[in-house]
Amino acid sequence: MKEPDLISAGSMIMKDKYGRIIKYLRLSVTDLCNYRCIYCMPEEGVPKKSHSDILSIEELSEIAEASYDLGITKIRLTGGEPLLRKGILTLCDNIRRISDDIELSITTNGSLLPKMAKDLKSVGVDRLNISLDTLDRDTFRRITRLGKLDQTLNGIEAAQKAGFDNIKINTVLLGGINDSEILPMLSLTKDNNIQLRFIELMPIGITKSLSDNLFVTVKNIEKLLLNSAELTVDGVARVYRLPGYKGSIGLISPMSHSFCERCDKIRVTADGRLKPCLHSEDEISLKGLHGNELIQAIKNGIINKPMCHKIDSVGSQSSRNMNEIGG
Ligand code: SAM
Ligand code: SF4
Repeated sequence: MKEPDLISAGSMIMKDKYGRIIKYLRLSVTDLCNYRCIYCMPEEGVPKKSHSDILSIEELSEIAEASYDLGITKIRLTGGEPLLRKGILTLCDNIRRISDDIELSITTNGSLLPKMAKDLKSVGVDRLNISLDTLDRDTFRRITRLGKLDQTLNGIEAAQKAGFDNIKINTVLLGGINDSEILPMLSLTKDNNIQLRFIELMPIGITKSLSDNLFVTVKNIEKLLLNSAELTVDGVARVYRLPGYKGSIGLISPMSHSFCERCDKIRVTADGRLKPCLHSEDEISLKGLHGNELIQAIKNGIINKPMCHKIDSVGSQSSRNMNEIGG
């Protein structure tokens, strides 16, 4: 087994023990949400944690800085719904001040973008991923339980007006619920320079108990795209464009194609646990750590990242719901 690689002098590159360069941190800033998506959160919501049990804005900023010092150049804020977190703009500003080299993005359900998109742009957020599983009002309510389709559509429009380009739309494919809407969803990419990303549903946390019929692969979408050229691989997505369309279509298939050998991520939960792998139960507590201790703990997490999850043999070994991890 190879020794982890550290190259210092401002541009550190950190590799795990399998030689994968780790450069992407998903930082969950809250486990609370104003929606209750059927595959993510229990219908009754989750109890609000006390301040001392979640990372403060200062601690989140310190983790971002320590991670940057270890070679992380891509930071995504997520949740729960990250735009509900008090101090989110300060956090974005703090991260932007660490370095202009950091690609700072947010994954959001879009509902608060009409009032926040401009401010997010002005504190230096580079990119937004907005979750939208359907264009049908009733189906949107069925999936999110509490959401309204117009909130997310208005959020996408507000983000575009605020100057965010290359917006990515995350669509989780749900058999029997939104898989009949693939064509209308694809048409979103006709005149809009967005990337529509179809994501396979993962059986994690409460999703493990959902009906098997909901779990469908992206293969049918791939068939529809057969005549369009595959453009590129963008992170974990295979990206296509329909002839004459402005936007693109990304397919993310964690279930039918494992991408562990290319995984470059670590995650931190809102209660301050570093998860080297989404589907592993291994977690390292970062809460209360500062300076060198914090750096060492993150380094440990990176070095000891498992080679692969076992989701297709024994299932996800993480007992958390997605709202705690951030996707
Ligand atoms: N609230 C924000 C949102 O919905 O975009 C950010 C947090 S959410 C947990 C992040 C992403 O994870 C969303 O795009 C959501 O659709 C996706 N997600 C949640 N549970 C999932 C599951 N079981 N399988 C696949 N994707 C999931
Ligand atoms: Fe909330 Fe996002 Fe989870 Fe839906 S997917 S319940 S919007 S955290």
